[in-house]
Amino acid sequence: MTVTELAGAALLDEVVRLTRDELRPSADAAEEAKEFPRELVRRLCELGLVRLGLPESRSGLVFCRAIETLASGWLAVAESVHLQVLAAVGPARFGGTHVRDDVLPTMLSGAVIGGNCFSEPNAGSDLSHLETTAVLDGDRYRLNGEKSWVGHANVGGVFNVYCRTAGGGLGGITCLLVDADSPGLSVHRPVRKMGVRALPTATITFTDVLVPRDRVIGRPNRGMLVASDVFVQGRIGLAACAVGLAQGALEYAVAYAKKRIQFGQPVIQFQGVSFLLADMATQIQAARQLLHYAVTRRDAGHDVSVEAAQAKLFSTDVAMRVTTDAVQVLGAYGYTQDSPAERWMREAKLLQIIEGTNQIQRAAIAARL
Ligand SMILES: Cc1cc2nc3c(=O)[nH]c(=O)nc-3n(C[C@H](O)[C@H](O)[C@H](O)COP(=O)(O)OP(=O)(O)OC[C@H]3O[C@@H](n4cnc5c(N)ncnc54)[C@H](O)[C@@H]3O)c2cc1C
Repeated sequence: MTVTELAGAALLDEVVRLTRDELRPSADAAEEAKEFPRELVRRLCELGLVRLGLPESRSGLVFCRAIETLASGWLAVAESVHLQVLAAVGPARFGGTHVRDDVLPTMLSGAVIGGNCFSEPNAGSDLSHLETTAVLDGDRYRLNGEKSWVGHANVGGVFNVYCRTAGGGLGGITCLLVDADSPGLSVHRPVRKMGVRALPTATITFTDVLVPRDRVIGRPNRGMLVASDVFVQGRIGLAACAVGLAQGALEYAVAYAKKRIQFGQPVIQFQGVSFLLADMATQIQAARQLLHYAVTRRDAGHDVSVEAAQAKLFSTDVAMRVTTDAVQVLGAYGYTQDSPAERWMREAKLLQIIEGTNQIQRAAIAARL
């Protein structure tokens, strides 16, 4: 494996440097051009970030701080690293020898980009209606169906595909690790999104794709066990993205409010503006603490499905409010594409929808009350 792992503080220093020197300066142009920052993502994986994000590394706090920093500079890059972790969660914990020895190292190093395929045209929040099927044919599965909204679809080399292998409901679902260059697999053109355009999202269709049995992640018909680990990690990683995005917007708004003069003084001197900024800072700090509480408990070995849902729900709602208020602080300039604030506001909206919508997070929390 070629991963060079820098320990905690040194790694975070490098992430701060990369965010300042490379992410922030290139984000606007790459988002406009819809260009996936392949090289940047590979370098971040090589630093050891993907391995660090895996639950078994028990380094959740360092990972969250790294993702927060990246997201404060460019959400698409933070989300891409987060997606790479999500793609590796199942193979790392539930993969067989071939998957763990031959495929996982390429995902950890960033040599191969990965993705997760849950959603389908008729199954979004409700995965009990998955229609993609895999039928055992000798020592291979024959996979047929269509997966929607696959992050990394157009740049990925390997995908965790959740498909039906028995019965109905959530019981008969299996997770298969499928190579992107498998005959019969076809990736559609990227969907035209409101934001995070540098990270491609697309439909993938599977027509008689043959997948060897040793690519089953976990056990046949027990795919939802794998998925539940992915869901918790998804909520944690996405909450870190939200905290970072909001922090970047706050810092930008504060700097602007200190230099924009109206009525003979910087606008931050007006209580209407400074209280808005104070509320933004307070909400971000609350979101960060909720997230850090969840990962600290998880690193200590606790089940944090509720805490992770609370962190995802709260931090993404905070990111939406804070980015909206950042536009307000910037006034007319905030409403133009010459400022990054309108992009951040568009990006924040995504975070309330993916990794389980915020309605689904509320339902999950309520179910455990
Ligand atoms: C940019 C982007 C990237 C994505 N990446 C991936 C990916 O990599 N892999 C993947 O598998 N999927 C991905 N998704 C899909 C995402 O996970 C789904 O959009 C999400 O799960 C919601 O499903 P849906 O859009 O079909 O909404 P629906 O399930 O159709 O929901 C519609 C509305 O009804 C609400 N609703 C539904 N059920 C309930 C309920 N029980 N209680 C209360 N409200 C409810 C929802 O909150 C929502 O507001 C991505 C989506 C986007 C936009």
